[in-house]
Parts: sequence; structure tokens; C-alpha cells
Amino acid sequence: MKVENSQHPEDEVKSCPQCGFIWKNFKQTRELGCPQCYETFHQEVQHWLTKKGYGYEYTGTGPRKDAEAARRDEQKNELENALAWSLRQELYEEAARIRDQLRSLQEGK
Ligand SMILES: [Zn+2]
Repeated sequence: MKVENSQHPEDEVKSCPQCGFIWKNFKQTRELGCPQCYETFHQEVQHWLTKKGYGYEYTGTGPRKDAEAARRDEQKNELENALAWSLRQELYEEAARIRDQLRSLQEGK
């Protein structure tokens, strides 16, 4: 299995074999061209979602309850946005994964 570096500039012009969608376009439209796009750009989508701020573990240094609660609210918003986006793109696996994260976020006290 070949491991590709998602930082590589070639990714900018990587295209979907199904519909010819280019990843670069995603950054403007935030829409994928077809279901095959998600297969093609899985790594990039993951990276994008992560960069948006969701998916990280709490790495704070202290038990600052207020800051933590604010951060959790923010994270919840981002997760909800990501979930809505995934459903709109019909990325049900991704949506399920985000839903799990939302659930654990809500349960995490
Ligand atoms: Zn496509």
C-alpha cells in the first residue's frame, strides 16, 4: 500500500476519476462532485475536517471549567456543522463517525 503525503502540492490538482472534480475546487465550494469523490479525496476531507477543529482530543493544561465548557460548545458547533455537511454530501460513514464524536462530547463531563 502506497502512503501519500497529503501536504504534497500535487494534491491541488488531483482529480476524481468519476467526475473529474478537482480538490482545489472543494476549497471554494465545499461540495464534492460525486460519491466517488469521497473515495478519491478521503484523506483530504479528513484533513479538512480536522483542520476545522473537530476531532482533536482535549489537551488543555488545567481544569479551567469555563474555558473547557466554552471549547466544548465550540467543538459541538463544529461537529454539528461537519455532520450537516457530511449528510448533505451523503457521506454516511463520515456522518456516523461524527455523530459518535458528538455523542461522546455530550457525554464527556
Ligand atoms: Zn467525483
